[in-house]
Amino acid sequence: MLSQIEQLLLQITFVLFPMIFYFALIHKRMESDAYQRGVFGIFCGISIFILLLNPIFLDQGKQMDLRSIPWFLSFMYGGPLVGLSVTVFTVVTRILIGGSGMFSSFIALGVTMGFLIYLYNPYKEWRLSKKLVFSVVTLGAVSISLPIIATVIYQTSEYIKQPQLHIFFSVINMLTVLVVLFIIETMLENERLYKSLLRTEKMVVMNQMAASIAHEVRNPLTSVKGFLQLLRTSERLNDNERKYIAVSLEEVNRADQIIQDYLRISKDEKPVHSVSNVLSDVQYVASALNSYALLKKVELENHFTNDHFVLGKSSDIRQMLMNIIKNAIEASENREQAKVIISSGTKSKSFILNIQDNGKGISEKQIEQLGFPFYTTKDQGTGLGLMVTFKIAKAIGAEIKVSSEVEKGTCFSIYFEIAEHKETKDDETIQEVV
Ligand code: ADP
Ligand code: MG
Repeated sequence: MLSQIEQLLLQITFVLFPMIFYFALIHKRMESDAYQRGVFGIFCGISIFILLLNPIFLDQGKQMDLRSIPWFLSFMYGGPLVGLSVTVFTVVTRILIGGSGMFSSFIALGVTMGFLIYLYNPYKEWRLSKKLVFSVVTLGAVSISLPIIATVIYQTSEYIKQPQLHIFFSVINMLTVLVVLFIIETMLENERLYKSLLRTEKMVVMNQMAASIAHEVRNPLTSVKGFLQLLRTSERLNDNERKYIAVSLEEVNRADQIIQDYLRISKDEKPVHSVSNVLSDVQYVASALNSYALLKKVELENHFTNDHFVLGKSSDIRQMLMNIIKNAIEASENREQAKVIISSGTKSKSFILNIQDNGKGISEKQIEQLGFPFYTTKDQGTGLGLMVTFKIAKAIGAEIKVSSEVEKGTCFSIYFEIAEHKETKDDETIQEVV
């Protein structure tokens, strides 16, 4: 028979090992987010199963284990559905194994579960320190409430006879979750850094290629365009020939457009100090895209009506809006009651512009791909629009956040830096990305 200290050390190992194993070796190898969460749930389940089979035995048939930790993590890193499945698994296993104090733990888990589900989404955005504090407090509260609930339910002082033991056990719970969470978050952060490094490397290569190719191709293209325009004026053309020339011109323009985007991407943009009124930019772009929206049978609604001055050149802001709104219209095309809504908000030092559509949506994995050169899901797409958009955002100190639900719609939120109340004239023409 193992001593209680040995049992405790085993318990801590059974919490740490599956979690570290999963995040170090499994997590990054899986493509889909749903798989990641599902497999994480299985690891939590395994951990709980082993913990339940090897508890710390106390006197009078009572026992303790650290199962609340993997259970808690299954909600925070697996999501509500995975958390609930792990809960059902835990309850069933616990009943099959038997032992005293069962129902008090079910009550504690049930109540905590509500909080965890409610906090799942905000949790993802929290800073590390906040996450650590939250999990330590939650685990502390759950483990300290167990004997109290048991005392109330079973109407006996049996469970609080040794308060120092319960306090000790809560502290162990809190310390273990602190360590586990710190390790998990560090590994996730490394994974994110690695991904962004890969991304940056790709961008650098793109930049170098872009500049050289674009210049070379642009010149012949300009002469082709000029000759086509000349040809078009000829009176000897029949209708068919005229149509062919029109199509050729369109295609040449498209190619030219792609090159313009390339050049823009490869240019190292210096930080800008101009100030623009977002309202006039939104109105400009909304009216420019109105007929496009009509054509695609999408309603374009603008709920944003007040002057707001932000950092950034007007032509840049228009270009960003043009790309984002156009994508929103294209994503909503052919859908019932298709609508793109532009609205605004403020948050501390930022002015936020939201472009919400009820189009086909994007999965979380796809959101990570946004802004990569050539990432497109459209037959006629170039996959450069958002790349340009993100690049501009970076140059003007704006941030773009994307939230989306597949088959429901997408919201692009641009966080602009608010500026002093003055407007600069900026009459550069804007390019349209198709
Ligand atoms: P393009 O429009 O040429 O495909 P973008 O860079 O503008 O290139 O967009 C890249 C991809 O991002 C699109 O092909 C589309 O799959 C996805 N996307 C962008 N905005 C939305 C949106 N509002 N809803 C759904 N998917 C979107
Ligand atoms: Mg686009």
